[in-house]
Amino acid sequence: MTDAAIAALRTHLAETADLHHAAMLLGWDQQTHMPPRGAQSRGQAGGTLERLAHDRTADPALAGLLDAAAAAGEDAGLVRAVREDHERAARVPGTLVGEMAEVAAEAQGVWEAARAASDFSAFAPLLERHVALCRQYAACFPEVEHPYDALMQRFEPGATTSAVRAAFSELREGLVPLIAAIAAKPDPGDLVGPFPVGDQRTLALEIARTMGYDDDAWRIDEAAHPFMANMGRQDVRITTKEDESALAIGLFGVLHETGHGLYEAGIDARWDRTTVGTGTSLGVHESQSRLWENMVGRSRAQWSRWLPRAKELFPVPLEGLEVDDVLRRINAVRPSLIRVDADEATYCLHVLLRFELEVALFEGELQVADLPAAWNARMQEYLGVDVPSDADGVLQDVHWAHGVFGYFPTYALGTMIAAQLWEAAHVAIPDLETRIADGDLATLREWLREHVHQYGRTRTGDEILQDVTGGGLDPAPLLRYLNDKYGALYDL
Ligand code: ZN
Repeated sequence: MTDAAIAALRTHLAETADLHHAAMLLGWDQQTHMPPRGAQSRGQAGGTLERLAHDRTADPALAGLLDAAAAAGEDAGLVRAVREDHERAARVPGTLVGEMAEVAAEAQGVWEAARAASDFSAFAPLLERHVALCRQYAACFPEVEHPYDALMQRFEPGATTSAVRAAFSELREGLVPLIAAIAAKPDPGDLVGPFPVGDQRTLALEIARTMGYDDDAWRIDEAAHPFMANMGRQDVRITTKEDESALAIGLFGVLHETGHGLYEAGIDARWDRTTVGTGTSLGVHESQSRLWENMVGRSRAQWSRWLPRAKELFPVPLEGLEVDDVLRRINAVRPSLIRVDADEATYCLHVLLRFELEVALFEGELQVADLPAAWNARMQEYLGVDVPSDADGVLQDVHWAHGVFGYFPTYALGTMIAAQLWEAAHVAIPDLETRIADGDLATLREWLREHVHQYGRTRTGDEILQDVTGGGLDPAPLLRYLNDKYGALYDL
Protein backbone atom coordinates (compact mmCIF):
# COMPACT_ATOMS: atom_id res chain seq x y z
CA MET A 1 0.00 0.00 0.00
CA THR A 2 2.67 2.48 1.00
CA ASP A 3 4.86 1.38 -1.91
CA ALA A 4 1.90 1.89 -4.22
CA ALA A 5 1.55 5.51 -3.13
CA ILE A 6 5.20 6.19 -3.85
CA ALA A 7 4.99 4.37 -7.17
CA ALA A 8 1.95 6.44 -8.22
CA LEU A 9 3.81 9.69 -7.51
CA ARG A 10 6.91 8.45 -9.30
CA THR A 11 4.88 7.49 -12.39
CA HIS A 12 3.36 10.96 -12.52
CA LEU A 13 6.78 12.58 -12.18
CA ALA A 14 8.39 10.25 -14.75
CA GLU A 15 6.06 11.40 -17.52
CA THR A 16 6.64 15.05 -16.66
CA ALA A 17 10.39 14.44 -16.64
CA ASP A 18 10.04 12.89 -20.12
CA LEU A 19 8.40 16.08 -21.39
CA HIS A 20 11.25 18.15 -19.94
CA HIS A 21 13.69 15.75 -21.60
CA ALA A 22 12.04 16.26 -25.00
CA ALA A 23 11.91 20.05 -24.55
CA MET A 24 15.60 20.10 -23.63
CA LEU A 25 16.46 18.10 -26.75
CA LEU A 26 14.46 20.50 -28.95
CA GLY A 27 16.30 23.42 -27.39
CA TRP A 28 19.69 21.78 -27.83
CA ASP A 29 18.92 21.06 -31.48
CA GLN A 30 17.70 24.62 -32.03
CA GLN A 31 21.06 26.01 -30.96
CA THR A 32 23.32 23.42 -32.58
CA HIS A 33 21.77 22.00 -35.76
CA MET A 34 18.44 23.62 -36.69
CA PRO A 35 18.37 25.81 -39.82
CA PRO A 36 17.42 29.43 -39.07
CA ARG A 37 13.95 29.28 -40.59
CA GLY A 38 12.96 26.42 -38.30
CA ALA A 39 12.56 28.89 -35.44
CA GLN A 40 8.86 29.47 -35.74
CA SER A 41 7.70 25.85 -35.83
CA ARG A 42 10.29 24.92 -33.20
CA GLY A 43 8.89 27.65 -30.99
CA GLN A 44 5.41 26.20 -31.38
CA ALA A 45 6.57 22.66 -30.62
CA GLY A 46 8.57 23.82 -27.62
CA GLY A 47 5.62 25.85 -26.40
CA THR A 48 3.36 22.79 -26.56
CA LEU A 49 5.81 20.66 -24.55
CA GLU A 50 6.25 23.40 -21.96
CA ARG A 51 2.49 23.74 -21.64
CA LEU A 52 1.96 19.98 -21.26
CA ALA A 53 4.68 19.77 -18.59
CA HIS A 54 3.20 22.79 -16.87
CA ASP A 55 -0.31 21.32 -16.93
CA ARG A 56 0.94 18.07 -15.41
CA THR A 57 2.76 19.95 -12.66
CA ALA A 58 -0.34 22.07 -11.97
CA ASP A 59 -2.58 18.95 -12.04
CA PRO A 60 -4.75 19.06 -8.87
CA ALA A 61 -4.32 15.27 -8.57
CA LEU A 62 -0.60 15.79 -7.96
CA ALA A 63 -1.32 17.37 -4.55
CA GLY A 64 -3.10 14.17 -3.47
CA LEU A 65 -0.31 11.97 -4.84
CA LEU A 66 2.20 14.03 -2.87
CA ASP A 67 0.22 13.73 0.38
CA ALA A 68 -0.08 9.96 0.00
CA ALA A 69 3.56 9.47 -0.96
CA ALA A 70 4.74 11.68 1.91
CA ALA A 71 2.68 9.60 4.34
CA ALA A 72 4.21 6.46 2.80
CA GLY A 73 7.73 7.68 3.50
CA GLU A 74 8.74 9.29 0.21
CA ASP A 75 11.90 11.40 0.52
CA ALA A 76 11.05 14.70 2.24
CA GLY A 77 13.31 16.74 -0.04
CA LEU A 78 11.61 15.36 -3.14
CA VAL A 79 8.17 16.04 -1.68
CA ARG A 80 9.13 19.62 -0.77
CA ALA A 81 10.59 20.42 -4.22
CA VAL A 82 7.67 18.90 -6.15
CA ARG A 83 5.12 20.57 -3.86
CA GLU A 84 6.77 23.94 -4.55
CA ASP A 85 6.67 23.23 -8.30
CA HIS A 86 3.01 22.26 -8.03
CA GLU A 87 1.98 25.28 -6.00
CA ARG A 88 3.88 27.61 -8.33
CA ALA A 89 2.46 26.01 -11.49
CA ALA A 90 -1.07 26.00 -10.13
CA ARG A 91 -0.88 29.79 -9.83
CA VAL A 92 0.17 30.43 -13.44
CA PRO A 93 -2.26 29.79 -16.32
CA GLY A 94 -0.90 27.30 -18.87
CA THR A 95 -1.81 29.73 -21.67
CA LEU A 96 0.55 32.33 -20.17
CA VAL A 97 3.37 29.78 -19.93
CA GLY A 98 2.86 28.74 -23.57
CA GLU A 99 2.73 32.35 -24.75
CA MET A 100 5.99 33.16 -22.92
CA ALA A 101 7.70 30.20 -24.62
CA GLU A 102 6.40 31.18 -28.08
CA VAL A 103 7.50 34.81 -27.80
CA ALA A 104 10.89 33.61 -26.59
CA ALA A 105 11.37 31.36 -29.61
CA GLU A 106 10.35 34.12 -32.06
CA ALA A 107 12.50 36.67 -30.27
CA GLN A 108 15.67 34.61 -30.76
CA GLY A 109 15.75 35.43 -34.49
CA VAL A 110 14.66 39.02 -33.96
CA TRP A 111 17.41 39.51 -31.39
CA GLU A 112 20.04 38.00 -33.69
CA ALA A 113 19.06 40.38 -36.50
CA ALA A 114 18.85 43.40 -34.18
CA ARG A 115 22.25 42.65 -32.73
CA ALA A 116 23.79 42.14 -36.18
CA ALA A 117 22.45 45.57 -37.17
CA SER A 118 23.15 47.05 -33.70
CA ASP A 119 19.57 48.30 -33.75
CA PHE A 120 17.87 48.20 -30.36
CA SER A 121 14.65 49.67 -31.78
CA ALA A 122 14.18 46.50 -33.85
CA PHE A 123 14.27 44.43 -30.65
CA ALA A 124 12.36 46.74 -28.31
CA PRO A 125 8.80 45.70 -29.36
CA LEU A 126 9.48 42.03 -28.50
CA LEU A 127 11.13 43.06 -25.27
CA GLU A 128 8.00 45.06 -24.42
CA ARG A 129 5.91 41.93 -24.96
CA HIS A 130 8.21 39.95 -22.68
CA VAL A 131 8.06 42.59 -19.97
CA ALA A 132 4.26 42.64 -20.18
CA LEU A 133 4.09 38.83 -19.95
CA CYS A 134 6.52 38.81 -17.01
CA ARG A 135 4.39 41.40 -15.24
CA GLN A 136 1.40 39.07 -15.69
CA TYR A 137 3.52 36.23 -14.35
CA ALA A 138 4.66 38.19 -11.29
CA ALA A 139 1.06 39.23 -10.61
CA CYS A 140 0.25 35.52 -10.06
CA PHE A 141 2.32 35.80 -6.83
CA PRO A 142 0.83 38.76 -4.98
CA GLU A 143 2.37 37.69 -1.64
CA VAL A 144 6.01 38.34 -2.64
CA GLU A 145 7.76 41.36 -1.20
CA HIS A 146 8.86 42.62 -4.64
CA PRO A 147 7.48 41.62 -8.07
CA TYR A 148 11.03 40.80 -9.19
CA ASP A 149 11.20 38.13 -6.44
CA ALA A 150 8.60 36.10 -8.34
CA LEU A 151 10.67 36.30 -11.54
CA MET A 152 13.99 35.51 -9.86
CA GLN A 153 12.59 32.59 -7.86
CA ARG A 154 11.89 30.74 -11.13
CA PHE A 155 15.66 30.25 -11.27
CA GLU A 156 16.78 30.71 -7.67
CA PRO A 157 14.15 29.42 -5.24
CA GLY A 158 14.08 31.45 -2.05
CA ALA A 159 16.07 34.40 -3.44
CA THR A 160 14.68 37.85 -2.60
CA THR A 161 15.45 41.17 -4.25
CA SER A 162 16.35 42.71 -0.88
CA ALA A 163 18.84 39.95 0.07
CA VAL A 164 20.44 39.88 -3.38
CA ARG A 165 20.69 43.66 -3.43
CA ALA A 166 22.48 43.61 -0.04
CA ALA A 167 24.94 40.90 -1.10
CA PHE A 168 25.63 42.64 -4.41
CA SER A 169 26.31 45.98 -2.79
CA GLU A 170 28.83 44.38 -0.40
CA LEU A 171 30.41 42.75 -3.42
CA ARG A 172 30.57 45.99 -5.38
CA GLU A 173 32.19 47.79 -2.45
CA GLY A 174 34.93 45.16 -2.40
CA LEU A 175 35.41 44.87 -6.17
CA VAL A 176 35.67 48.53 -7.17
CA PRO A 177 38.85 49.28 -5.14
CA LEU A 178 40.44 45.97 -6.20
CA ILE A 179 39.86 46.75 -9.87
CA ALA A 180 41.20 50.28 -9.37
CA ALA A 181 44.37 48.94 -7.69
CA ILE A 182 44.93 46.52 -10.57
CA ALA A 183 44.38 49.27 -13.15
CA ALA A 184 47.37 51.13 -11.69
CA LYS A 185 49.65 48.17 -12.51
CA PRO A 186 51.22 47.29 -15.89
CA ASP A 187 49.08 45.18 -18.23
CA PRO A 188 50.41 41.59 -18.41
CA GLY A 189 49.65 41.15 -22.12
CA ASP A 190 47.96 38.23 -23.85
CA LEU A 191 48.76 34.77 -25.05
CA VAL A 192 49.30 35.33 -28.75
CA GLY A 193 48.14 32.63 -31.19
CA PRO A 194 47.41 31.16 -33.58
CA PHE A 195 45.99 28.29 -31.56
CA PRO A 196 44.58 25.81 -34.13
CA VAL A 197 41.01 25.02 -33.10
CA GLY A 198 41.43 21.26 -33.44
CA ASP A 199 44.29 21.34 -30.95
CA GLN A 200 42.25 23.55 -28.62
CA ARG A 201 39.52 20.91 -28.65
CA THR A 202 42.12 18.21 -27.96
CA LEU A 203 43.51 20.01 -24.90
CA ALA A 204 40.08 20.98 -23.59
CA LEU A 205 38.77 17.42 -23.85
CA GLU A 206 41.89 15.90 -22.28
CA ILE A 207 41.36 18.14 -19.26
CA ALA A 208 37.59 17.59 -19.29
CA ARG A 209 38.15 13.81 -19.21
CA THR A 210 40.28 14.13 -16.07
CA MET A 211 37.39 16.13 -14.58
CA GLY A 212 34.91 13.37 -15.44
CA TYR A 213 33.76 13.94 -19.05
CA ASP A 214 32.79 10.43 -20.18
CA ASP A 215 32.69 9.73 -23.93
CA ASP A 216 29.92 7.17 -23.47
CA ALA A 217 27.59 9.59 -21.70
CA TRP A 218 28.58 13.03 -22.97
CA ARG A 219 28.97 14.82 -26.29
CA ILE A 220 30.30 18.17 -27.47
CA ASP A 221 29.05 20.32 -30.34
CA GLU A 222 29.50 23.86 -31.56
CA ALA A 223 27.05 26.62 -30.66
CA ALA A 224 27.18 30.38 -31.07
CA HIS A 225 26.45 30.79 -27.35
CA PRO A 226 27.82 27.78 -25.48
CA PHE A 227 25.59 26.05 -22.94
CA MET A 228 25.06 22.63 -21.38
CA ALA A 229 21.95 20.56 -22.01
CA ASN A 230 21.21 17.44 -20.03
CA MET A 231 18.81 14.65 -20.80
CA GLY A 232 19.53 12.91 -17.50
CA ARG A 233 22.88 11.99 -15.99
CA GLN A 234 23.70 9.55 -18.84
CA ASP A 235 23.22 12.05 -21.69
CA VAL A 236 25.11 15.26 -20.99
CA ARG A 237 25.68 17.64 -23.90
CA ILE A 238 28.07 20.53 -23.80
CA THR A 239 28.70 23.09 -26.51
CA THR A 240 31.65 25.27 -27.38
CA LYS A 241 32.88 27.85 -29.82
CA GLU A 242 36.52 28.21 -30.70
CA ASP A 243 38.55 31.05 -32.11
CA GLU A 244 42.03 30.42 -33.49
CA SER A 245 43.32 33.71 -32.09
CA ALA A 246 42.28 33.03 -28.49
CA LEU A 247 42.98 29.90 -26.48
CA ALA A 248 40.85 31.10 -23.57
CA ILE A 249 37.46 31.11 -25.33
CA GLY A 250 37.55 27.47 -26.37
CA LEU A 251 39.50 26.09 -23.41
CA PHE A 252 37.85 27.79 -20.45
CA GLY A 253 34.45 27.59 -22.11
CA VAL A 254 34.73 23.80 -22.21
CA LEU A 255 35.84 23.65 -18.56
CA HIS A 256 32.87 25.85 -17.65
CA GLU A 257 30.30 23.69 -19.44
CA THR A 258 31.96 20.51 -18.16
CA GLY A 259 31.48 21.91 -14.64
CA HIS A 260 27.75 22.23 -15.38
CA GLY A 261 27.73 18.73 -16.83
CA LEU A 262 29.47 17.18 -13.83
CA TYR A 263 26.68 18.48 -11.61
CA GLU A 264 24.03 16.73 -13.71
CA ALA A 265 26.13 13.59 -14.14
CA GLY A 266 26.75 13.42 -10.39
CA ILE A 267 23.12 13.32 -9.31
CA ASP A 268 22.17 10.13 -7.50
CA ALA A 269 20.52 7.46 -9.67
CA ARG A 270 17.54 7.32 -7.34
CA TRP A 271 16.37 10.67 -8.77
CA ASP A 272 16.45 9.38 -12.37
CA ARG A 273 13.29 10.20 -14.33
CA THR A 274 11.89 12.46 -11.64
CA THR A 275 11.58 16.23 -11.74
CA VAL A 276 14.18 16.58 -8.95
CA GLY A 277 16.97 14.84 -10.90
CA THR A 278 18.60 18.09 -11.97
CA GLY A 279 20.52 20.99 -10.42
CA THR A 280 18.79 22.66 -7.49
CA SER A 281 19.07 26.23 -8.77
CA LEU A 282 20.85 28.18 -11.47
CA GLY A 283 23.06 29.84 -8.87
CA VAL A 284 24.29 26.52 -7.51
CA HIS A 285 24.68 25.31 -11.11
CA GLU A 286 26.81 28.31 -11.96
CA SER A 287 28.88 27.72 -8.83
CA GLN A 288 29.96 24.42 -10.35
CA SER A 289 30.85 25.81 -13.77
CA ARG A 290 32.73 28.80 -12.40
CA LEU A 291 34.58 26.76 -9.80
CA TRP A 292 35.97 24.45 -12.50
CA GLU A 293 36.53 27.16 -15.09
CA ASN A 294 38.24 29.71 -12.86
CA MET A 295 39.21 28.45 -9.44
CA VAL A 296 40.63 25.21 -10.85
CA GLY A 297 41.09 26.08 -14.53
CA ARG A 298 43.02 29.31 -14.10
CA SER A 299 45.03 28.22 -11.04
CA ARG A 300 48.75 27.75 -10.58
CA ALA A 301 48.23 24.10 -9.59
CA GLN A 302 46.31 23.34 -12.77
CA TRP A 303 48.86 25.03 -15.05
CA SER A 304 51.77 23.34 -13.30
CA ARG A 305 50.20 20.10 -14.50
CA TRP A 306 48.97 21.16 -17.95
CA LEU A 307 51.45 23.70 -19.32
CA PRO A 308 53.85 21.00 -20.61
CA ARG A 309 50.99 19.37 -22.52
CA ALA A 310 49.80 22.75 -23.84
CA LYS A 311 53.33 23.43 -25.06
CA GLU A 312 53.31 20.16 -27.02
CA LEU A 313 50.13 21.29 -28.79
CA PHE A 314 51.05 24.98 -29.21
CA PRO A 315 54.86 25.04 -29.28
CA VAL A 316 55.26 28.40 -31.01
CA PRO A 317 52.69 30.55 -29.13
CA LEU A 318 53.81 29.23 -25.73
CA GLU A 319 57.54 29.10 -26.41
CA GLY A 320 59.62 30.35 -23.49
CA LEU A 321 56.63 30.98 -21.21
CA GLU A 322 56.76 29.78 -17.61
CA VAL A 323 53.72 28.97 -15.47
CA ASP A 324 53.76 32.48 -13.96
CA ASP A 325 53.80 34.11 -17.39
CA VAL A 326 50.80 32.09 -18.50
CA LEU A 327 48.93 32.71 -15.24
CA ARG A 328 49.33 36.48 -15.50
CA ARG A 329 48.07 36.47 -19.08
CA ILE A 330 45.06 34.15 -18.58
CA ASN A 331 44.07 36.10 -15.47
CA ALA A 332 44.54 39.59 -16.88
CA VAL A 333 42.01 42.08 -15.50
CA ARG A 334 40.69 44.56 -18.05
CA PRO A 335 37.38 46.38 -17.75
CA SER A 336 35.61 45.52 -21.00
CA LEU A 337 32.31 45.61 -22.84
CA ILE A 338 31.26 41.99 -23.04
CA ARG A 339 30.15 39.99 -19.99
CA VAL A 340 31.03 36.55 -21.33
CA ASP A 341 34.59 37.68 -22.06
CA ALA A 342 35.03 39.42 -18.70
CA ASP A 343 37.75 38.42 -16.25
CA GLU A 344 36.98 37.17 -12.75
CA ALA A 345 37.41 40.58 -11.11
CA THR A 346 35.09 42.58 -13.36
CA TYR A 347 32.59 39.82 -14.20
CA CYS A 348 30.24 40.37 -11.30
CA LEU A 349 29.93 44.09 -12.06
CA HIS A 350 28.47 43.18 -15.48
CA VAL A 351 25.90 41.07 -13.66
CA LEU A 352 25.12 43.73 -11.04
CA LEU A 353 24.40 46.20 -13.82
CA ARG A 354 21.87 43.85 -15.42
CA PHE A 355 20.24 43.08 -12.07
CA GLU A 356 19.80 46.77 -11.30
CA LEU A 357 18.31 47.52 -14.74
CA GLU A 358 15.89 44.59 -14.49
CA VAL A 359 14.74 45.60 -11.03
CA ALA A 360 14.24 49.19 -12.26
CA LEU A 361 12.18 47.90 -15.22
CA PHE A 362 9.83 45.98 -12.94
CA GLU A 363 9.65 48.79 -10.42
CA GLY A 364 8.50 51.02 -13.30
CA GLU A 365 11.48 53.31 -12.78
CA LEU A 366 12.88 52.48 -16.22
CA GLN A 367 11.15 52.05 -19.60
CA VAL A 368 12.29 49.56 -22.25
CA ALA A 369 13.08 52.41 -24.66
CA ASP A 370 15.49 53.91 -22.10
CA LEU A 371 17.48 50.69 -21.54
CA PRO A 372 20.38 51.49 -23.91
CA ALA A 373 21.07 54.87 -22.29
CA ALA A 374 20.79 53.43 -18.77
CA TRP A 375 23.08 50.56 -19.75
CA ASN A 376 25.73 52.84 -21.21
CA ALA A 377 25.67 55.16 -18.21
CA ARG A 378 26.24 52.28 -15.76
CA MET A 379 29.03 50.77 -17.86
CA GLN A 380 30.80 54.09 -17.56
CA GLU A 381 30.08 54.38 -13.84
CA TYR A 382 31.08 50.82 -12.81
CA LEU A 383 33.78 49.91 -15.31
CA GLY A 384 34.81 53.21 -16.86
CA VAL A 385 33.97 51.82 -20.28
CA ASP A 386 32.34 53.71 -23.17
CA VAL A 387 29.85 51.59 -25.09
CA PRO A 388 30.29 52.23 -28.82
CA SER A 389 27.18 50.39 -30.06
CA ASP A 390 24.11 48.57 -28.78
CA ALA A 391 25.52 45.34 -30.25
CA ASP A 392 28.37 45.60 -27.74
CA GLY A 393 26.05 46.91 -25.06
CA VAL A 394 22.44 46.26 -24.28
CA LEU A 395 21.96 43.73 -27.13
CA GLN A 396 24.95 41.50 -26.29
CA ASP A 397 23.17 38.78 -24.30
CA VAL A 398 20.44 36.42 -25.52
CA HIS A 399 18.67 36.25 -22.13
CA TRP A 400 16.20 39.08 -22.60
CA ALA A 401 15.23 37.60 -25.99
CA HIS A 402 14.12 34.55 -24.01
CA GLY A 403 12.24 36.72 -21.52
CA VAL A 404 14.15 35.26 -18.58
CA PHE A 405 14.21 38.31 -16.33
CA GLY A 406 15.61 37.29 -12.95
CA TYR A 407 18.17 34.96 -14.50
CA PHE A 408 21.24 37.24 -14.58
CA PRO A 409 21.70 37.56 -10.81
CA THR A 410 22.27 33.79 -10.62
CA TYR A 411 25.64 34.27 -12.36
CA ALA A 412 26.98 36.42 -9.54
CA LEU A 413 25.25 34.34 -6.85
CA GLY A 414 26.91 31.28 -8.37
CA THR A 415 30.30 32.98 -8.36
CA MET A 416 29.89 33.75 -4.64
CA ILE A 417 28.76 30.18 -3.90
CA ALA A 418 31.71 28.82 -5.89
CA ALA A 419 34.13 30.72 -3.64
CA GLN A 420 32.33 29.48 -0.52
CA LEU A 421 32.61 25.87 -1.74
CA TRP A 422 36.23 26.37 -2.86
CA GLU A 423 37.19 27.61 0.60
CA ALA A 424 35.38 24.71 2.27
CA ALA A 425 36.97 22.17 -0.09
CA HIS A 426 40.44 23.38 0.94
CA VAL A 427 39.56 22.75 4.58
CA ALA A 428 38.17 19.30 3.82
CA ILE A 429 41.00 18.35 1.44
CA PRO A 430 44.15 19.98 2.89
CA ASP A 431 46.38 18.79 0.02
CA LEU A 432 43.91 19.86 -2.69
CA GLU A 433 46.40 22.09 -4.52
CA THR A 434 48.99 19.30 -4.64
CA ARG A 435 46.40 16.89 -5.95
CA ILE A 436 45.37 19.29 -8.71
CA ALA A 437 49.03 19.84 -9.62
CA ASP A 438 49.40 16.04 -9.82
CA GLY A 439 46.49 15.85 -12.27
CA ASP A 440 44.03 14.51 -9.70
CA LEU A 441 40.75 16.35 -10.28
CA ALA A 442 38.66 13.37 -9.18
CA THR A 443 39.13 14.04 -5.45
CA LEU A 444 37.57 17.49 -5.79
CA ARG A 445 34.81 16.17 -8.09
CA GLU A 446 33.89 13.45 -5.60
CA TRP A 447 33.82 15.96 -2.74
CA LEU A 448 31.45 18.12 -4.81
CA ARG A 449 29.38 15.08 -5.69
CA GLU A 450 29.06 14.18 -2.03
CA HIS A 451 28.15 17.67 -0.82
CA VAL A 452 26.35 19.20 -3.81
CA HIS A 453 25.66 17.03 -6.85
CA GLN A 454 24.09 13.87 -5.49
CA TYR A 455 21.05 15.60 -4.00
CA GLY A 456 19.70 17.11 -7.21
CA ARG A 457 16.80 19.33 -6.18
CA THR A 458 16.11 17.43 -2.96
CA ARG A 459 18.32 19.95 -1.13
CA THR A 460 18.00 23.70 -1.65
CA GLY A 461 20.99 25.92 -2.29
CA ASP A 462 20.67 27.25 1.26
CA GLU A 463 20.66 23.72 2.70
CA ILE A 464 23.78 22.85 0.70
CA LEU A 465 25.57 25.97 1.92
CA GLN A 466 24.48 25.39 5.52
CA ASP A 467 25.77 21.81 5.35
CA VAL A 468 29.11 22.77 3.81
CA THR A 469 29.88 26.12 5.45
CA GLY A 470 27.58 26.31 8.47
CA GLY A 471 26.14 29.57 7.11
CA GLY A 472 24.23 31.09 4.21
CA LEU A 473 25.15 33.12 1.13
CA ASP A 474 28.26 35.21 1.83
CA PRO A 475 30.24 37.48 -0.52
CA ALA A 476 33.29 37.50 1.80
CA PRO A 477 34.95 34.27 0.52
CA LEU A 478 34.79 35.55 -3.08
CA LEU A 479 36.39 38.85 -2.08
CA ARG A 480 39.10 36.97 -0.10
CA TYR A 481 39.74 34.67 -3.07
CA LEU A 482 40.00 37.55 -5.57
CA ASN A 483 42.17 39.70 -3.27
CA ASP A 484 44.54 36.78 -2.61
CA LYS A 485 44.72 35.76 -6.25
CA TYR A 486 45.22 39.18 -7.78
CA GLY A 487 47.33 40.39 -4.87
CA ALA A 488 49.87 37.73 -5.82
CA LEU A 489 49.55 38.06 -9.62
CA TYR A 490 49.71 41.86 -9.70
CA ASP A 491 51.94 42.35 -6.66
CA LEU A 492 49.34 44.56 -4.95
ZN1 ZN B 1 27.29 28.67 -16.89
